[in-house]
Amino acid sequence: MKVMAQMSMIMNLDKCIGCHTCSVTCKQAWTNRTGVEYVWFNNVETRPGVGYPRTYEDQEKWGGGWVRTKRGRLKLRSGGRLSKLARIFSNPKLPEIHDYYEPWTYDYDMLLNAPKGQQTPVARPKSLLTGEDMKISWSANWDDDLGGSLETMQDDPILKKMSEEVKAEFEKAFMFYLPRICEHCLNPSCVASCPSGAMYKRAEDGIVLVDQDQCRGWRMCVSGCPYKKVYFNHRTGKAEKCTMCYPRIEVGLPTVCSETCVGRLRYLGIVLYDADRVAQAAAVEDDKALLRAQRDIILDPFDPAVIEAARAGDIPEDWIEAAQRSPIWKLMQYQVALPLHPEYRTMPMVWYIPPLSPVVDVVTGSGNDGEDARTLFAAIDKLRIPIGYLAELFTAGDIAPVDLALRRLAAMRSYMRGVNLDDERDER
Ligand code: SF4
Ligand code: SF4
Repeated sequence: MKVMAQMSMIMNLDKCIGCHTCSVTCKQAWTNRTGVEYVWFNNVETRPGVGYPRTYEDQEKWGGGWVRTKRGRLKLRSGGRLSKLARIFSNPKLPEIHDYYEPWTYDYDMLLNAPKGQQTPVARPKSLLTGEDMKISWSANWDDDLGGSLETMQDDPILKKMSEEVKAEFEKAFMFYLPRICEHCLNPSCVASCPSGAMYKRAEDGIVLVDQDQCRGWRMCVSGCPYKKVYFNHRTGKAEKCTMCYPRIEVGLPTVCSETCVGRLRYLGIVLYDADRVAQAAAVEDDKALLRAQRDIILDPFDPAVIEAARAGDIPEDWIEAAQRSPIWKLMQYQVALPLHPEYRTMPMVWYIPPLSPVVDVVTGSGNDGEDARTLFAAIDKLRIPIGYLAELFTAGDIAPVDLALRRLAAMRSYMRGVNLDDERDER
């Protein structure tokens, strides 16, 4: 057993209100520069929706992550650094600027120097690419307006004329927010893709970084990352990505996105894992077994054998204690946190507590939100957000682990409501 430490994050999706404070503060800290106007190391996308960059989850199209060969080995879907030079030059799987979104600013001149008129002046959005007024734009939150009914919207954009069938479709509409940063994967395909050896995973805390001096701008990392969380700086000609705010982490501060999160939904911490078993776990045969395989390599920080191996591997004593105090291992152990797209086989280390969306009380038929465990459990398959949709995101389509996570969340919610009601009664 080779014990290593990994800085990880878990986000509780029920708490995300889509305010984008995390994205804006991250941008101010890291990508408020020429060449990376379109870049959001942290983005918050609307689900269902096509994401940022658009359709990044279509791995056949973009070619990221790993595929398992018939012999049980892992192969980069994008070809990677072992491909021939010609293949690198003709790297076809790069998102274009419009797949991200057209960066824009406001024409403040309109606001500040407009002549007197009947209407209040408006600062119009203006393209940073063309300098023209923005006409039709797109962003990762365009889907807010569609609420999962994209097809319906296209079929009948004049909502006033909605037929009964269309109305029924809209009543089933749902949405939630999915904040995303680089996953700082245990088996990062971006690192394996880089022909220059510029991308690396730090041994001490697993943070994945780009050495700006080494980067030659091949952009194989952009193709190689299935989450599309490496970006190309058009000014410098180098790749850039989320650094997990390592200068802050090194002095004991949280990442900017965690510190500024309005919903307080980001749990940040160290986990210990068995580095000897990463490749084996990433290559398990069945996609649906990947979640368990990934959980199994995360180690119990209270296990004496793990502590001994961690000390032998020069992991500092205070890091071992930090792993014991961390909520991350506990949330993984209780199986309420799930990785995003484990089927990409990169072993992502930013996990999510799935949203326990409003549960309608089907037991009493009141139509109100389910308040106690009985109503929540009875309606767990009638959540506004379909379990199947969450399973496609977090468990390669396997319903059972999502069902378990939601039931545990429902039980905890019900328990805490009971505790709070008891407290109120005591106070009275
Ligand atoms: Fe690399 Fe981050 Fe993409 Fe994982 S999510 S492959 S660490 S850029
Ligand atoms: Fe969600 Fe927190 Fe970001 Fe707001 S700051 S969008 S609540 S993750």
